[in-house]
Amino acid sequence: MSLNEFRRPISVDSAPRGSRCEWCGQPAEQQLTAIGGIYHNEGGLFCRPCGEQFSLAVVTNSARTAANDTNLHPL
Ligand SMILES: [Zn+2]
Repeated sequence: MSLNEFRRPISVDSAPRGSRCEWCGQPAEQQLTAIGGIYHNEGGLFCRPCGEQFSLAVVTNSARTAANDTNLHPL
């Protein structure tokens, strides 16, 4: 198993200067947008630790969604 096979359903951009993390209020480092799954188009500005938490939540949920959706075949 390779991490390369693990598609993150998240788009990552740099956070605008001076923006703040939506969860903890610290300076944001990245802007995350979920692609697909129940979090589709949800996202926001996050600092690094919160961004990782958000990614994890999206990945976990999208894996669960994929398992329930016969049209999708997670590799
Ligand atoms: Zn944060």
